[in-house]
Amino acid sequence: MEKLEDLIAEMEKYGRENRVPIINEKGMPVLLETVRRKKPHRVLEIGTAIGYSTLLIADAAADDVQIDTLELSDERAETARKYIDRSRYSRNITIHVGDAGESLLRLKGKYDFVFIDAAKGQYPDYFRKVYNLLTDDALVLADNVLFRGYVLGKVECPRRFRTIVKRLREYISLVTDNDEFQTVIREDGDGLAISQRLSGENK
Ligand code: SAM
Repeated sequence: MEKLEDLIAEMEKYGRENRVPIINEKGMPVLLETVRRKKPHRVLEIGTAIGYSTLLIADAAADDVQIDTLELSDERAETARKYIDRSRYSRNITIHVGDAGESLLRLKGKYDFVFIDAAKGQYPDYFRKVYNLLTDDALVLADNVLFRGYVLGKVECPRRFRTIVKRLREYISLVTDNDEFQTVIREDGDGLAISQRLSGENK
């Protein structure tokens, strides 16, 4: 098995050279700090790309973590599988290739941590589908929710991104208006929404 830090450095280089979007250096510490605090056992990741965040989550989660990660692109999923198989987390991670909106309907069981990082225009749909798959104390973290400053209106949004921005605002309303969740929006990186489901006496 290769050392995780060497693999991660190689993946960062691959991402840069092949223009594969991976969570940026400001968002990553927030994601990892959240996973370390939560120590989840069953993780759902929507948007694998080459498995970069998948491996970092595996390393920060509980020792027995099982991760289901969803990716549309065959090529990216294959690259992710190769990297993951070179790590000690090969048996902890299952990649589901296909449209996440459809894969979500086939998943079984409950997840205590969900990382949403795929098609930004689909976040509300992902959340509605994920809702039935959450444990009572699940945490849902979504990346890119402030999308280049357009979502808060800090930067004027070009016409081609208007639908995405509308859907991201809808996602933020879905999680913030829902009494079952306590949501914090972090402005780090491209913006992260951290939604903790409140269970029992915390409601
Ligand atoms: N989470 C990864 C990381 O930080 O290392 C980065 C994920 S990247 C930002 C988003 C990924 O979502 C891309 O690889 C893209 O192919 C995938 N994607 C886009 N639309 C999708 C869909 N409808 N279903 C599944 N995956 C999708």
